[in-house]
Amino acid sequence: MSKNYNNCLSQLRKIKNIIQLKGKNSRDREAVYEEMEVLEKPQKIIQVSLPVRMDDGTLKVFEGIRVQHSDIRGPFKGGIRFHPKVNIDEVKSLAFWMTIKSAVVDIPYGGGKGGITVNPKELSQTELERLSRTYIRKMSNDIGPDKDIPAPDVYTNPQTMAWFMDEYSNIKGKNIPGVVTGKPIEIGGSLGRDKATAQGGYFVFENIKKKINLRDKVEVAIHGFGNAGANFAKIASDNGHKVVAISDSKGTVFNKNGLNINELMEYKRQNGSVVGFPNSEKIKWEELLTLKVDLLVPAALEGTITKEIALGVKAKVILELANGPITPEADEIIDKNNILVIPDVLANAGGVVVSYFEWVQNLRSYYWDEEKVRTQLYNKMNKATDVVWRAKEEYKENMRTAAYIAAFLELSKSLKVRGI
Ligand code: GLU
Repeated sequence: MSKNYNNCLSQLRKIKNIIQLKGKNSRDREAVYEEMEVLEKPQKIIQVSLPVRMDDGTLKVFEGIRVQHSDIRGPFKGGIRFHPKVNIDEVKSLAFWMTIKSAVVDIPYGGGKGGITVNPKELSQTELERLSRTYIRKMSNDIGPDKDIPAPDVYTNPQTMAWFMDEYSNIKGKNIPGVVTGKPIEIGGSLGRDKATAQGGYFVFENIKKKINLRDKVEVAIHGFGNAGANFAKIASDNGHKVVAISDSKGTVFNKNGLNINELMEYKRQNGSVVGFPNSEKIKWEELLTLKVDLLVPAALEGTITKEIALGVKAKVILELANGPITPEADEIIDKNNILVIPDVLANAGGVVVSYFEWVQNLRSYYWDEEKVRTQLYNKMNKATDVVWRAKEEYKENMRTAAYIAAFLELSKSLKVRGI
């Protein structure tokens, strides 16, 4: 087992010790003992080979993975990513984080994650479609609306989910929209799902901002301009905050007076990158991460903020819209420097929360308007933020540790009554 999942295990053991030491009553202190052991290993790991005919007639064989970490609180739930670096160890960590995330926001799901080791930018749409359909065919016995429900993640999108849903429905001989979430609206997607991760993160930030008396309108730097980063930039600027720097995989733009986000989004649509945006200065992405801003939002991949970068971080608050953007070594430094980190398992949980709403709508065949989705998301995110904050104060730990404590206490209750 390489470094990544080992970090999850260390985190798990650390939490176990803290709860045993500081648990506010004997039920909490004892609750976590055996339950923690159960969570150390994913329940099931599925690995499949995916032979796909390329447009030029050649055959390529890709590797597909699904890790089902825990279904103690409900069906496995979590995204599927298409990325050249996808590997078992990474997917195990991501699946573990989904278990925590669902418990933090109190939705009736466990945790899972999947992926295909592929660079999707090198495939045509028709090749991607064949790859997606092959993946679902191979996984069709292990997924399902009451078993395991995939969703979008890095480099997968509503179109990918439409192919998944269609293929699965074909296999089962009937329409089953609840097998995946993050679908296009036309086939059972939920209004508000596209910007849910960013919107949820924004609600959490606004709540925390009041708790720590941060100024009302803040300066923001965002690393990553995909679904989460771009929508967050738009929501923040629509709410009067000043977004001074943004990066995508090709480069970083900066304007100390604030970037015009609507124009930047249009510019990216036309040019494929933020680089070269008029009225902006080009800076290095490392500089973005160490800008003196109120809020830093890592919204790209894991492990972006390393130890070296952490030493220079000057933001007051970090909102982790990406999963695992801060390495454990960097996390320690940032914590020592009293920078408040709003952890991924809370900060980016808006995505899976609206996935849950989508699934509920699919199961009922009754669809909500956007206002209802927004209000319910607001309530869920605020409640979860308050629960984590209370744990932070009770246990005198940082927000990440507090979120894990809150999640483990929930998970252990479910394990206890189900029996091990
Ligand atoms: N991939 C997203 C995440 O990491 C969404 C998962 C979901 O909606 O199931 O939270």
